[in-house]
Amino acid sequence: MNQQGSTADTPAAAANVAVVGGGITGLAAAHRLLSRCRHTRISLFESSRRVGGIIRTEEADGFLMELGPDSFITNKPGAVQLCEELGFSSQLISTDERFRKSLVLSRGRPRAVPDGFMLMAPENPLAVLTTPILSLKGRLRLLGEYFVSSAGAQEDESLASFVRRRFGPETLDRLVQPLVGGIYTSDPEKLSLRATLPRFLDMEKEHGGIIRAVLAGRARKSRKAVAESGARYGLFATPAAGLSSLTGELRKLLEQSERVRLRLNTPIQSLRRDDRENSPGWALETHTGLERFDAVILTLSARAVPQILPDDEFSELSTQLRQIEFASSALIVSGHQLSDFHDRMEAFGMVVPAVEQREILAVSYSSRKFPNRAPAGHLLLRTFVGGAMQPQMMQKDDDEILDSVNRELSAIYGMHREPLFSEVIRYHAAMPQYHVGHCERIRRIESCLRQLPGLQLAGSAYHGVGIPDCISSGRTAADSLLAALS
Ligand SMILES: Cc1cc2nc3c(=O)[nH]c(=O)nc-3n(C[C@H](O)[C@H](O)[C@H](O)COP(=O)(O)OP(=O)(O)OC[C@H]3O[C@@H](n4cnc5c(N)ncnc54)[C@H](O)[C@@H]3O)c2cc1C
Repeated sequence: MNQQGSTADTPAAAANVAVVGGGITGLAAAHRLLSRCRHTRISLFESSRRVGGIIRTEEADGFLMELGPDSFITNKPGAVQLCEELGFSSQLISTDERFRKSLVLSRGRPRAVPDGFMLMAPENPLAVLTTPILSLKGRLRLLGEYFVSSAGAQEDESLASFVRRRFGPETLDRLVQPLVGGIYTSDPEKLSLRATLPRFLDMEKEHGGIIRAVLAGRARKSRKAVAESGARYGLFATPAAGLSSLTGELRKLLEQSERVRLRLNTPIQSLRRDDRENSPGWALETHTGLERFDAVILTLSARAVPQILPDDEFSELSTQLRQIEFASSALIVSGHQLSDFHDRMEAFGMVVPAVEQREILAVSYSSRKFPNRAPAGHLLLRTFVGGAMQPQMMQKDDDEILDSVNRELSAIYGMHREPLFSEVIRYHAAMPQYHVGHCERIRRIESCLRQLPGLQLAGSAYHGVGIPDCISSGRTAADSLLAALS
């Protein structure tokens, strides 16, 4: 995970490298090793019988369903670059312009997020002035951010503290919490702005405030970076055949190479140092015994890493990793007839503020967002529950979760018939929580890793949770290893 420069092909690096975890991070790391060095031999260990990890696409009865993530942002480089290198870009589709609108639940009704409201940057003051989502007092307080001094600026701060300080409590509760919470499933009182949306802190520092930065136009570069960290539906893409087609392509490419061994159904049970004369190395234990490697990239969850490291040798690293918290959530994928709703469902989705006290976090209108996700006249929805704001929802069994979701869909959209089908997919502790202090913790983890040559960590817990971040993290880990090995 060290942020080193990239390497050229390095003949000296005729190394034997293990990549642990066959999710998108591990696949991207293995692909990078393969393409950057003609000599490296790669073993990819995956505990389950398939690659892709959280990414899973299924098809049934004309519905194309994403049972994990459904798309990636295109103005972060990781995913787009990888697709280009694979010759896969032509498979990508972008969102359907006809429905390019996001909604927020406001006093029980779905309403459009004010035009140009980029997570918290109000690029269109008129739209803010007329939005029914905020009271007049709330709207004036939001626009009054222009006059708020930057005296309280801090190096790191929770999202809630920043937004309350600059825009007032109503903007936090009714807009920013659901929009940002929708990405991180996090508690805004704990979420680190420095680790998630650092440009807002920088805008305040450089321009004295967000609106000043926007108006000054000097913030063009910052705004680009803000967009890079946020949810702008128009900037999302996905493979026409679903995200599993991307992981399938990576798998195919790796399997075609004589230098790669794909080891499915092979969980790593432990990892320890195995240094020999002038040759540092690592011993991995699987159910078939110990195997030695020159270097290892661990892409399994940061939560699982301490479980495979002996505590005596790696106590500081394990302590730091254990301090990263994770939230659990569930995704409910459901198929419907459009005529079963009073609402026209003409948007990409809706987020739900915690102050609305509902039992769902967000609904993504999958078949409005991307074409060919549902047969004509039908609708495919992805409803999210749980996360750090609703941990109690995860205590329910699947039938209870389905009851809650159906109740909410009926109340909010006038759904008057049971879904044609619905499935609950649980994600236990899958979402790392970037709490205040996260960047400092990552610095400490990186400092531990510098004492452990040949070991790299990559994945969603370190420098970003999205697919492009995970891909970049896997590729950076591969580059760092190759640089060190050569
Ligand atoms: C519900 C949900 C929706 C999301 N939606 C989006 C989205 O729309 N867009 C987006 O950009 N991001 C999204 N994300 C985030 C993104 O999907 C993830 O951060 C990313 O897919 C994680 O990939 P990964 O390879 O790091 O981890 P994983 O996908 O978890 O892969 C880790 C792999 O390691 C394997 N493994 C575990 N232990 C071992 C072991 N001991 N030995 C060998 N193998 C092991 C696992 O079986 C797994 O295959 C979403 C996340 C969630 C949870």
